[in-house]
Amino acid sequence: MFKRILVANRGEIAVRIIRTCMEMNIETVAIYSTADKECLHVKLASDSVCVGSYKAADSYLNIDAIICAALVKGCDAIHPGYGFLSENSEFVRKCNEYGIAFIGPTAEAMDALGNKATARRIMKDAGVPTVPGYDGPIDSAGKLEKIARRIGYPLLVKASAGGGGRGMRRVNGPAELESLFGEAKAEAKACFGNDEMYVEKLIENPKHIEFQILADEFGNVIHLGERDCSIQRKNQKLIEESPCMFIKDDLRKAMGKAAVLAAKAAGYTSAGTVEFVLDNKGHYYFIEMNTRIQVEHAVTEMVTGVDLIKEQIRIAFHEPLRLRQKDIKLSGHAIECRINAENPAAGFMPGNGKIGFLNIPGGAGVRVDTLLYNGYETSPFYDSMMAKIIVHAPTRLEAIRRMRRALLELVTEGIVTNGDFDYLLLHHPDFIKGKYNVGFIEAHAEEILSWDKAAARLKSDE
Ligand code: ADP
Repeated sequence: MFKRILVANRGEIAVRIIRTCMEMNIETVAIYSTADKECLHVKLASDSVCVGSYKAADSYLNIDAIICAALVKGCDAIHPGYGFLSENSEFVRKCNEYGIAFIGPTAEAMDALGNKATARRIMKDAGVPTVPGYDGPIDSAGKLEKIARRIGYPLLVKASAGGGGRGMRRVNGPAELESLFGEAKAEAKACFGNDEMYVEKLIENPKHIEFQILADEFGNVIHLGERDCSIQRKNQKLIEESPCMFIKDDLRKAMGKAAVLAAKAAGYTSAGTVEFVLDNKGHYYFIEMNTRIQVEHAVTEMVTGVDLIKEQIRIAFHEPLRLRQKDIKLSGHAIECRINAENPAAGFMPGNGKIGFLNIPGGAGVRVDTLLYNGYETSPFYDSMMAKIIVHAPTRLEAIRRMRRALLELVTEGIVTNGDFDYLLLHHPDFIKGKYNVGFIEAHAEEILSWDKAAARLKSDE
């Protein structure tokens, strides 16, 4: 097995990876920026190296400094976590060049799937259902109009290099087509340095359903069921759960098969996620594949009992998967709430502060992955996600009740979070009944924000 892994990340995911390494008796090397010297991941790792200034470009994105740190510290592998360099194929190639194992997919698979238009083409050719659309080059207004007419409105114009909802616009009719296309294209150029675009039919009020897959270097690919990530704000996920309450065994089998097919078509290895939108008639369509461990991976771990980081490490060490599809059973229900330093009442604006007093929820069926400790000061330079609370219970309703209880226990004095907002949301009758889709928060935020905790309790399932 690997002797020493460098964790090229910060925050809760760095802590998460270090924990599994400790359980596997693998030493870890943390990297940190000058702003993060006191951070939890630095304290928990076997060793640590400062790789640059507070600016991510100087530190967590500094390929040369990170490779150098790995070589100096004698690391035989690097885990990139999510974000930062996790989907950077140049980094993967550099690791290969220096004989350091990259814990993730190959640079080739990453490149193919990183371009969403290319990924669409691969999936279409392999027979994976994709959203009706057009992914060839669009080089004139006339051509764009013709494509739009064929697909029909409303539609989405999307950037091939897009992410986090950027470079994407909903177009309701021909009058706004050209201007919104231009807007999205300019945004894509500014954010990603690439303004290649494609067009997709807009699936009205879908659910966002993604399948976790694991693939080894010997052609074995399995899926670990789905996550429902429909509760989003600003196109970013806030609450995730597994399984999805609407997916029955037959649909799970069909979508799982499509996810496995997608991974095979891309020659994928490691842990990955195949994302679909699911309409209210049970039709599902591939939208993209994520080539990294995801924030929400823990809900899958809770219902399957599989440590996904451990599997990633074994796969990178060229081991065959020990699990077969028949070994994967979804047991009970898991929900995750992301706790961000942000204010829901101010349009989810991120804020900063210093933890005066911290209480982390605990008790039966509660897992908390966090970077917080007493005295932690948020950094405006990095992501606003502070913690993930994940609960597991026999049924969905019990999981909801357990999550409410955990959220009541959470105290982050000095930092405003969305914790109370989540607590209120978990009492909304439509959420409890499953009457929600990706537009839920936008439709209900104002109503939810008008409740207090006692009023919320009266609206709940009891
Ligand atoms: P990004 O990589 O920017 O997150 P995605 O392609 O994953 O972009 O889309 C983000 C979100 O937008 C999805 O979770 C889904 O809610 C919505 N979405 C994407 N494609 C479609 C579509 N064709 N129809 C309806 N909603 C979509």
